[in-house]
Amino acid sequence: MSREVRRVPLDFDAPLGQVWSGYVMPEHLCERRCPACEHGVAPSRAWLESIVHLLMLLPDETGAAAVRRTREVGRSVPMHPYLRAVKRRPVGRPGEDIEALTGGLAGRPPREGRHDDVDRGHAVAAILGAGGLDPETWGICETCGGEATLEVWPGQREAAEKWEATEPPAGDGWQLWNTAGDPAPCTPVFATEAELVAHLVAADGYRPEAAARLVADGGSIGSFWQMAHPGGGRGPMYDAARNADLIPFMIPARNALAGGGV
Ligand SMILES: [Zn+2]
Repeated sequence: MSREVRRVPLDFDAPLGQVWSGYVMPEHLCERRCPACEHGVAPSRAWLESIVHLLMLLPDETGAAAVRRTREVGRSVPMHPYLRAVKRRPVGRPGEDIEALTGGLAGRPPREGRHDDVDRGHAVAAILGAGGLDPETWGICETCGGEATLEVWPGQREAAEKWEATEPPAGDGWQLWNTAGDPAPCTPVFATEAELVAHLVAADGYRPEAAARLVADGGSIGSFWQMAHPGGGRGPMYDAARNADLIPFMIPARNALAGGGV
């Protein structure tokens, strides 16, 4: 859900539009970036990862992939710019048999020509293994041990792992929160459900039916809904909160959950 009605004290005055402070890890628990690396690996491994990234692009550049891409976008599509920038590259596109190589390294075939980060990680490990090296240790940054950050004071990491978010206090007030990311309050607190609905209409431009449904349901279902045309194909994209009355589903009695809900 991207909008959620929360029941908070009437005098709750957390800044609107800002993540509730109870959800933000305190500054003194935040580690500093490792000065010796970018993401936990030494330069040799970073080079290997870059080259494996290029390799794992190849199944999406075969002749068959080019035909599929052309059909999708309605025109011919050149090879990925990273591959076009390779000096002394072959003239033609790779063949279908490239999938056997990248799929073998990844431990699973590409999906519609594509490998993801997990596949790339497996391919890096497979190449290191073939070279007789331990993927757990080779090329890992010695300064940070692969964490990419360093403790500012001894015991900081352990303290950060123990840190838990604090929920906002529960109360009789009504407030809308944006929960698409870390939750942040997005309206003032109102004494009644009706006042919150009226505010959404008057101040935020909601249609009255949408505001009433949103508050009655206790929130929106997701962020956006891609609707279908009755005759097939894509219909309009609905903002789930601003069109809550048009989304043909209901959340049962969620606003009965005092103090923040789920
Ligand atoms: Zn490091």
